[in-house]
Amino acid sequence: MINRIVEEYAKRKDEIIQTVTNELGVPLKLSEKSHYNMGMQHFIQAAKELETFEFEAERDGTIIRKESIGVSGLITPWNFPTNQTATKIASAFAAGSPVVLKPSELTPFAAILLAEIFEAAEVPKGVFNLVNGTGEVIGDGISSHPDIDFVSFTGSGLTGQKITENAAKTIKKVALELGGKSPMIILDDYDIKKAAKLAVSNVIFNTGQVCTLASRTIVPAAKKDAFIKAVKEILSDIKVGPPEKETSKLGPLISQDQFDRVQGYIQKGIDEGATLSVGGLGKPEGLETGYYVKPTVFTDVKNEMTIAQEEIFGPVMSVITYDTLDEAIEIANDTIYGLAGYVIGNDSETLKKVASSIRAGRITVNKAPSDYSAPFGGYKQSGIGREWGDYGIEEYLEIKSIVGL
Ligand code: NAD
Repeated sequence: MINRIVEEYAKRKDEIIQTVTNELGVPLKLSEKSHYNMGMQHFIQAAKELETFEFEAERDGTIIRKESIGVSGLITPWNFPTNQTATKIASAFAAGSPVVLKPSELTPFAAILLAEIFEAAEVPKGVFNLVNGTGEVIGDGISSHPDIDFVSFTGSGLTGQKITENAAKTIKKVALELGGKSPMIILDDYDIKKAAKLAVSNVIFNTGQVCTLASRTIVPAAKKDAFIKAVKEILSDIKVGPPEKETSKLGPLISQDQFDRVQGYIQKGIDEGATLSVGGLGKPEGLETGYYVKPTVFTDVKNEMTIAQEEIFGPVMSVITYDTLDEAIEIANDTIYGLAGYVIGNDSETLKKVASSIRAGRITVNKAPSDYSAPFGGYKQSGIGREWGDYGIEEYLEIKSIVGL
């Protein structure tokens, strides 16, 4: 069934790309390379996992079985409308769990396309259920429903808390994929221009509306000036513009609320004494209509500043300097979040040491491509549980032991 979904998903490629661009505002190229592709990869990966996944094992005469958890309620945000729905649905289907999906009210159309894809793939009736609506009504209904066995949520921490409280009334298992304030540590043995390129491309990705965004760039103090010079040069070539235009690297933010939120944080950075090195308040020239923002870089940021502690969810980089590696690691971990981390360097032993020392669920070294079989999820207030690959499937399973058969 999942292989049939992959086939049907591929047939709808152009519509998926256009739909995500229409509802989210990301440039078409990014919609294809990232959004269309990520959705696809989760289904491909789930099918692959099922070739080897052990649902039953024997241990000293006792049978250990992994059985479907039952009906899963899936509640998803707007920033990756195909990725977050697909990772949950693919894992749930692989585990044999029927689902009720409530996508974000800001991006309902990608989910409607998925419903059509599942119908074409002959997913049996009742296995996939889509309910569009607001969080307070539909989301609340899902988390408190006695016939739903598990809620998998991706979104903000505050909503995650509400869902957990609601789910507690019927002792439901809850998985949470929440926000982040991820560090990128640049080691002093790496080419600073190349490092600046990686830092910029991470921070502008999806107009900064990414939970794993490397929003805190931790740079050797001695290389700060060279790093900022390189960042300025790179950003001067990057175009913000309408998503349908070939040259646009960044589209607008999703909504007025999101625009106000990002502007509020830029103002806060200025008020708290960080140095505004690139970008700043207001819209880029010539883009007065739409929720466009300027990619913004703050330097001389102290990790205790609001812009270094709270999730901005926009293309805003905070540059923090360090003198020793221990100090860099301490800064990286000085956050309530632990979703992702990035280490840029040459020496593999130092890279491993730093990667192992960051308390976060997904660490990326240098320019590594994503690994869809690797678990994805957060430490600390970034969440509970893991998605993607076999670990993702485990979330939708109950474990039973049969003793004495
Ligand atoms: P949000 O919490 O406002 O909304 C997420 C979903 O929850 C939406 O579908 C919304 O309708 C629903 N919802 C709202 N109130 C609810 C309630 N009381 N009960 C049940 N459901 C409710 O988040 P958002 O603004 O859509 O997304 C941005 C947030 O998501 C950011 O904090 C971001 O970091 C996080 N996020 C995390 C990951 C991850 O994998 N960890 C991925 C993407 C986004």
